[in-house]
Amino acid sequence: MGNLKRRDFLKTTGAALAATAAQPLLRVKEALPPLHAAPPVRQPIVIASGNGLRATEKAMQLLMQRSDALDAVVAGVNIIEDDPDDITVGYGGLPNEDGVVELDSSVMHGPSHRAGAVAALQKIKNPSLVARTVMERSDHVLLVGKGALRFARAHGFQEMNLLTEKSRKIWLEWKEAMSTKDDWLQPHSLDDRSVGAQLREYARHYGTINCDALDLQGNLSGVTTTSGLAFKIAGRVGDSPIIGAGLYVDNEVGAAGSTGRGESNLVNCSSVIVVEAMRAGKSPEEACLAACRRIVDNLKEARLKNDDGTPAFNVNFYAINTKGEYGGAAIWSGSKFALHDGKENRLLECAYLYKKK
Ligand code: ASP
Repeated sequence: MGNLKRRDFLKTTGAALAATAAQPLLRVKEALPPLHAAPPVRQPIVIASGNGLRATEKAMQLLMQRSDALDAVVAGVNIIEDDPDDITVGYGGLPNEDGVVELDSSVMHGPSHRAGAVAALQKIKNPSLVARTVMERSDHVLLVGKGALRFARAHGFQEMNLLTEKSRKIWLEWKEAMSTKDDWLQPHSLDDRSVGAQLREYARHYGTINCDALDLQGNLSGVTTTSGLAFKIAGRVGDSPIIGAGLYVDNEVGAAGSTGRGESNLVNCSSVIVVEAMRAGKSPEEACLAACRRIVDNLKEARLKNDDGTPAFNVNFYAINTKGEYGGAAIWSGSKFALHDGKENRLLECAYLYKKK
């Protein structure tokens, strides 16, 4: 797959590079172009988690119109945040154990090396826009809970009920089937003695969108946005709004983000690991695999392991570098990432450490 991707990349960037071959590919920061010279041109690229094809499509449209990478990726993920059918992000995201939707998001802007984030934000469907406002209109990086909501209100964000009928029903089913020892009952008949005993195997539902882009100016930015772990303890904050864990951008190196078990990224600062591995010379895919490996190497808790010692959860990484190279990797096989290289918008397989049986 590595070879294929490299071939695709060469094919798609070839035309753009040929078109700009006469000009040196200078960074805006490094040298002021002579008067009347065309600005530096790069082949833009957008990567996102597997649920992000509509986001990469939108982001690429904007990048081709010379948008800043952050404008592009935020506009891209807003589509998914607004979508009631995606139960992992924004409006319609699965709630916490009390049935309340709490959203996490972060943005990071490469050229200014600034970031903004919100955590456990209720009632606002686009936490990525609030995160961006924190970056641009406050001296802080992270606002949480009620403070984040007050800040959003002050900036004119509209409050709404984020719980859709679909996500409420999924939550209620979980709540009622959980235990015979509490007072929540599933639909049952008069002679049913074991209502709630059907302790169904609920896979803890993870899901998030991360989207990162390289724009025509050669600048990088990224965004991660999520409703977090389904049925989490109220107030739980995952990796998505934590700069360095669920998202990290260094404009001179690359951008990386993650989806999956957030707690594993919080204890490993995983997105920084990906960017630092790229700085050390690894390709985006190798860098993503390095972060997966670090998680596995640091995993000590038996409850998080399968019988054979492998992790009983998954974490996915997505990365691009300043050259427009890209890659995705996960602990377990079967994950995909969305990639728009300016020619084609498609889903590609993530590299992985372990093959699912
Ligand atoms: N990483 C997110 C979190 O832990 C969830 C996910 O990506 O599925 O909140």
